[in-house]
Amino acid sequence: MENLELAIAKIKEEMPGLTLLENEPLAAHCSFRIGGPVRALAIPSDLSALSKICCLLKEHQLAPFLLGNGTNLLFPDEGLADLFIISTEKLTRLFLLPDGAIYAEAGVSLSRLASFAQQNGLAGLEFASGIPGSLGGGCLMNAGAYDGELKDVIESVVCYYLPEQALVELSAEECGFAYRSSAFQTRPGFVILSAVLRLRPDDGEQIAARMRELNEKRREKQPLDLPSAGSAFKRPPGHFAAALIQEAGLKGYRVGGAQVSEKHAGFVVNTGGASSHDVYDLMMHVRKTVYEHSGIVLEPEMIMLAPDYKLEDHGPAVPRHFITVNQPNFSQETP
Ligand SMILES: Cc1cc2nc3c(=O)[nH]c(=O)nc-3n(C[C@H](O)[C@H](O)[C@H](O)COP(=O)(O)OP(=O)(O)OC[C@H]3O[C@@H](n4cnc5c(N)ncnc54)[C@H](O)[C@@H]3O)c2cc1C
Repeated sequence: MENLELAIAKIKEEMPGLTLLENEPLAAHCSFRIGGPVRALAIPSDLSALSKICCLLKEHQLAPFLLGNGTNLLFPDEGLADLFIISTEKLTRLFLLPDGAIYAEAGVSLSRLASFAQQNGLAGLEFASGIPGSLGGGCLMNAGAYDGELKDVIESVVCYYLPEQALVELSAEECGFAYRSSAFQTRPGFVILSAVLRLRPDDGEQIAARMRELNEKRREKQPLDLPSAGSAFKRPPGHFAAALIQEAGLKGYRVGGAQVSEKHAGFVVNTGGASSHDVYDLMMHVRKTVYEHSGIVLEPEMIMLAPDYKLEDHGPAVPRHFITVNQPNFSQETP
């Protein structure tokens, strides 16, 4: 705590032009509309300002938490004593490279990226046009839908590697993409700055038609009118989380303001005034009931940022989906 205050003071002193919001409500920065204040939220104007914040934090043995569009996160009502960096305000450069690949900074939204590709007659990102996240969050999650995943189109990713305070370029293979997972989740310390995406040429109208079709499906099936963090649980191998939840009789089940969506049982929605504890308790009830009903363990897809949320207490153990914010467990290896 003391270190954080020292780091914030140093950042203010050395970076007077930086936009730094203090005690900023996290509910305003996530699609769930849940979460108390974060001690500080920095909005760097470019990648070098972002790197400088990381450097100054490192001097105090701290690491930032990178926030994209906040569409896969549950923040605690109590707030967090941390420094967040938001990428989606200004780290949004996007252009075509001379060889036809796309360069995009981490804060570019996936929908803008998909539209940009379509406008340039490049196919392969149609699946991403309705995913409400940013490229940075999308890389960490290996976001995907309708048989497409970012791993299919990412050629390389440039990161700031916190332990060594160095820029590194990772090939798609080195990113370790797997279903809703990547090396960025399993090896903390990578701040994703930008990526190069390789797509295939196609007719712009046909690409647009495919995007419209997928977005129509999304609107039909998903509860897009209510705040959520998308699919609450990952798809267990050989099953669909939504079907398992529905079969366990949980469609519409409520805890406080949190509810298993009536429209799509794979979503947990905030019907108004849900607390993070409502969502957490609901998730744990779903997990336990589905396990008792089917023997299948559901693993949360959303990232629940609260140190006292223990999945192990509420059912069979699964890897804990909790990213340590101010005590990074840096690997000593070089990527
Ligand atoms: C209505 C709805 C529908 C959705 N549909 C889909 C879907 O079809 N498919 C799908 O895969 N997901 C879906 N999602 C979930 C979500 O949009 C994706 O997981 C998305 O990739 C998250 O991006 P984000 O920018 O919102 O990340 P955030 O939620 O802001 O962050 C997610 C994680 O990424 C990390 N992160 C963000 N930026 C960086 C960075 N620059 N460097 C390092 N780490 C970073 C954060 O620290 C955090 O750990 C949906 C969500 C909603 C609300």
